[in-house]
Amino acid sequence: MPLQNLTILGCTGSIGVNTLDVVRRHPDRYRVTALCAHRQADLLFAQCLEFRPRFAVLGDAEDAAALQAQLAAAGLPTEALSGVEALERMAALPEVDAVMAAIVGAAGLRPTLAAARAGKKILLANKEALVMAGPVFMRAVREHGAALLPIDSEHNAIFQSLPDGFHGDPSHALPARGVRRLLLTASGGPFRAHSPAALEKVTPEQAVAHPNWSMGRKISVDSATMMNKGLEVIEAHWLFGMDAERIDVVIHPQSVIHSLVEYVDGSVIAQLGNPDMRTPIAHALAYPERIAAGVAALDLFQVGRLDFEAPDLERFPCLALAFRALSAGGSAPATLNAANEVAVQAFLDGALGFTGIPALIAACLDALPAKPLDSLDAVLAADAEARAAARGYLARAVAA
Ligand code: NAD
Ligand code: MG
Repeated sequence: MPLQNLTILGCTGSIGVNTLDVVRRHPDRYRVTALCAHRQADLLFAQCLEFRPRFAVLGDAEDAAALQAQLAAAGLPTEALSGVEALERMAALPEVDAVMAAIVGAAGLRPTLAAARAGKKILLANKEALVMAGPVFMRAVREHGAALLPIDSEHNAIFQSLPDGFHGDPSHALPARGVRRLLLTASGGPFRAHSPAALEKVTPEQAVAHPNWSMGRKISVDSATMMNKGLEVIEAHWLFGMDAERIDVVIHPQSVIHSLVEYVDGSVIAQLGNPDMRTPIAHALAYPERIAAGVAALDLFQVGRLDFEAPDLERFPCLALAFRALSAGGSAPATLNAANEVAVQAFLDGALGFTGIPALIAACLDALPAKPLDSLDAVLAADAEARAAARGYLARAVAA
């Protein structure tokens, strides 16, 4: 296996740090060419000392200048850069083989799309980029011969459970190959058993404390509202080319079965493991080979039992809103995603209650009819329009 050069977008986040933990175990296979973070300069500097990348990127130019001085003082040749153009450049560097797309939210779209247009192997954690830009992103992947490997544990599980030879190309019509349904599992989040009245009162601290997974704050809130699963349904639609009618959600509180594929002959193939993101990260990094990930062996006796239940769309309307956006098509998923990002931030800031999140998103979907989505500009315009509508909703809610 020749040495692979990596760009890691979002290197200081939960996925970024887990990626570096897997990379650290295999210095003979992976070299880090570019590390990209937003604000956490101290952690980025520590990562540079360990992995000695050619480039390190921060969001702000002054922060990057300070980092450059620190790097030089430490005798490192790493070049510090800043801004979105630098992220796009890192995603498309000629010497880079694979790009870990692990920026959170719409901010990850431009660099992830740049990786697709440069024909890279993309390890996709940043589901929001695919949700908001589905047709534009998938066309870029196709036209430039990029490869998409899912990091999201559910999609990685499905990828592992698909017929031989799928290799991540959604134009391989899966129903024609005997696939009847994709079953996405969901833990149900920290409020799975809460009553509607109790949901009104939950706090950001309770929402970010996920029972099974340790993740960034935004995706933790998404897991609590179940919007995370909604985004994942849309993600599965684009990654695997499956219609919404063939994608089902199953609540599975133990998070041991990471998702399942049902075939016409009645077979159901699943991938199991401990809830540890290093498994899908290692799978995608080494695909089609297998490498150690530092993940503890699954102890089925300790797991004891596996439970399943249907999702409750009344207590968790975000899941239904995502299905609605997927069937509306065009710009509707971009509207859903942008409204959700604004709503989650407002909830974390204490400016919106938990049940206000789906109310705000529904209002934005009502106000903004779906438009065709055929270019990056159209995606960015839909995103901006939905953010403006969401902020207007928040301002009216505060005034009322
Ligand atoms: P996180 O909040 O822990 O980390 C986010 C990373 O993005 C950080 O490195 C941050 O510096 C960077 N970032 C934030 N805003 C940025 C901006 N404007 N420009 C450039 N960089 C920016 O988030 P996370 O939990 O690691 O999640 C990252 C992505 O992976 C999300 O899309 C999430 O949905 C997806 N994901 C995460 C998990 C998980 O277990 N954490 C699982 C599945 C999918
Ligand atoms: Mg997931």
